[in-house]
Amino acid sequence: MSGLKIQTKAIHSGEPRPRIAGAIVMPVFQTAMYEYAGEKTYDDVRYIRLNNTPNALALGEKLAELENAEAALVTASGMAAITTTLLTLLSKGDHLLAQDCLYGGTHDFVTKDLEGFGISYDLVDGNDPDSWEKKLRPNTKALYVETISNPLVQVPDLEEVVKFSKAHNLVSAVDNTFTSPVNYRPPEHGFDLSIHSATKYLNGHSDIVAGAVIGEEALIEKITHRLNHLGGSLDPHAAFLLHRGMKTLALRVRQHNENAMKVASFLEGHRAIAKVNYPGLSSHPQHQRAGRLFEGFGGMVSFEMVGGVSAAESFMHATKLAAVAPSLGGIETLITRPSTTSHAGLSASDRQKLGITDGLIRLSVGLEDADDIIDDFGDALGHLPRTNGKRVGPKLQVRS
Ligand code: PLP
Repeated sequence: MSGLKIQTKAIHSGEPRPRIAGAIVMPVFQTAMYEYAGEKTYDDVRYIRLNNTPNALALGEKLAELENAEAALVTASGMAAITTTLLTLLSKGDHLLAQDCLYGGTHDFVTKDLEGFGISYDLVDGNDPDSWEKKLRPNTKALYVETISNPLVQVPDLEEVVKFSKAHNLVSAVDNTFTSPVNYRPPEHGFDLSIHSATKYLNGHSDIVAGAVIGEEALIEKITHRLNHLGGSLDPHAAFLLHRGMKTLALRVRQHNENAMKVASFLEGHRAIAKVNYPGLSSHPQHQRAGRLFEGFGGMVSFEMVGGVSAAESFMHATKLAAVAPSLGGIETLITRPSTTSHAGLSASDRQKLGITDGLIRLSVGLEDADDIIDDFGDALGHLPRTNGKRVGPKLQVRS
């Protein structure tokens, strides 16, 4: 279905033709195994864990088309996608270069688990490509980054990641969760692999956990075979929900982009807010790069309040529309302090080095009317008492 716009592909790509029994919606194949039909290899035997049954295959096709890639597979979670990919690309004795500021689960896996598999790593500043070569080793096999990093929403030098990887024969892999295929499609920019926590924007409704890996066919086949052994395969019912969620992907993400821009601008202009991180703001250090590479700046914002942790806690308790919860990318606005949730696994000194303060609030701007979110945040900020002429002090409020 080449040549079609992304919202059309989100609806039509990967749909079985002819339609199964005439069904307009891809049915759920809630069967673990299928009758033997002469399959020649273990990986071809039709069984849910082997990632070759109808719901998983239809999703793979849709995802590949959304990012204009050769192939894709779905997994039981974003972390299953990340760990299975890294354990396919890297074996005992290999070395990985990874961006220093990553989603906490990925950071933990790289810094705490890889060593046990005999795999070494170095962390690099995604915005300082000149420093990467010093960390390169003869056994370096891959370079791993996030398109927009969690939770500081930094945009690494993605063009240099691709160039550097090609020059040094590394596999370039990027976690594209925050941008989604609507705002950025890594394979179009030369990345070998694009990884998603499909739990977030791809599904969009906060009701399942899932993951995806998208890229070149030969690599995806290798990762699928590794996944067949590791077992992090997506259940057909979760696949059905993901499939349904993905049909509105472009509509949702474009509205997330618009809402987040309005909310980030409002926060930046408020005197109780010390700093706002959002690539759509001209104050963001990588605003130009994000504008050049992305079709939208996404729905993720992080910010710090003048009053630090206590003001952050007060604000989070005072908002009425935003739920205080981890995760992101769903239709409802969510707020969290990463130091207590997504990045709680990092040591306090690692968080400090990266700039993840205890008071940092991560905000996943939802699809409520942006004016309602702004009014609610304005009210919550207005309830913070004035100190030295500024509204900064804590005042815990019971959520209604
Ligand atoms: N990648 C990013 C950027 C994330 O934010 C997350 C989870 O928050 C993950 C990966 C892990 O995804 P999952 O929770 O689906 O395993």
